[in-house]
Amino acid sequence: MSLFQVGKISMFSAKPGGPKDSYDAVVIGGGPAGLTAALYIARYGLSVAVLEAKNAGGYLRDIHIIENYPGYEGSGEELADRIISQVKKRGAEIYELTPVKYIGGEPGDFEIHTSAKVIKAKAVVIATGTEHKRHPLIKKASYCATCDAPLYKNKRVLVVGGGNTAAHEAMVLSEVASDVLIVHRSPFKAEKALLDRLLSKSNVRDVLGEIVGVEGERPFKIRIKRKEDGKEVVEEVDGIFVAIGLVPVSPKTKRDELIKDERGYIKVDLRMRTPVRYLYAAGDVTGYSGQVAIAVGHGARAAMSLYDDLSRRS
Ligand SMILES: Cc1cc2nc3c(=O)[nH]c(=O)nc-3n(C[C@H](O)[C@H](O)[C@H](O)COP(=O)(O)OP(=O)(O)OC[C@H]3O[C@@H](n4cnc5c(N)ncnc54)[C@H](O)[C@@H]3O)c2cc1C
Repeated sequence: MSLFQVGKISMFSAKPGGPKDSYDAVVIGGGPAGLTAALYIARYGLSVAVLEAKNAGGYLRDIHIIENYPGYEGSGEELADRIISQVKKRGAEIYELTPVKYIGGEPGDFEIHTSAKVIKAKAVVIATGTEHKRHPLIKKASYCATCDAPLYKNKRVLVVGGGNTAAHEAMVLSEVASDVLIVHRSPFKAEKALLDRLLSKSNVRDVLGEIVGVEGERPFKIRIKRKEDGKEVVEEVDGIFVAIGLVPVSPKTKRDELIKDERGYIKVDLRMRTPVRYLYAAGDVTGYSGQVAIAVGHGARAAMSLYDDLSRRS
């Protein structure tokens, strides 16, 4: 963790005074896709600002240990800090706690609306990623084991979901909790290596079934309908972690109907160009990523297209 971090908010990248009035390029979202785009854009000699709603690093900061990013094995937090330092060193500006509300203006002359001001940019990269899907029956849930696991030392926790994120969350929790129950309504989809390691732990168990009721609060009484025999069982847990999927998130734009599909993912071609000129998207918000290595590649490709297009314009 960086020296200047307060909790999960890294303040070291914020520039005093806030963003300027105009840039060659603005990148919206400071996850691995957006930061990589900014690194490339800055190295092309263009002025670029990253506007990040929360803390730069995106989901990287929620990854306890990343093992599938080539050349690096360690905490996601550390990787995020390294990327941010590199991006800043190349001259890109990063503004945290600066959510973008709306992208207006015209192609080549965009207007990016934050709560504080409107910023002009010749080109824009949208790299706003995804957010966690909510479970309709679970009102009090956590969505980040790396952040909240310490609250469950020697306690019983429920993880809902059967994909990579759920397995990752369960793995983090298994290091502190006394009992980790995973409930998944269809067969596990998580990577085999991760799953084998997880299910070999003595404090981890799973039920193939569906949550049909949640009563009480800390402890919660969870009613589960088992798939194998249709019977309902009740389990008591101290905390609930939900990891049942992700949905895209991005600011409203003047041309939403042109650039977003019916689920809200941003439409891009293989060069990360959206149907609007000088507007690009990268990473999980396109629906074609889901991994840090892919998000990074998207960011690089978006920046290369942006540079080609702006060079041809002038
Ligand atoms: C628990 C967990 C474990 C994972 N484990 C792995 C793993 O082991 N290996 C792997 O390769 N991948 C893993 N992933 C997936 C990986 O983290 C993502 O694929 C990757 O972070 C996507 O990068 P991104 O830049 O597209 O989006 P994100 O990382 O989601 O970053 C998007 C950023 O945009 C910001 N933003 C959103 N809306 C706005 C707005 N309106 N204005 C400004 N900013 C905005 C967000 O705050 C966020 O910081 C994991 C994910 C999770 C949740």
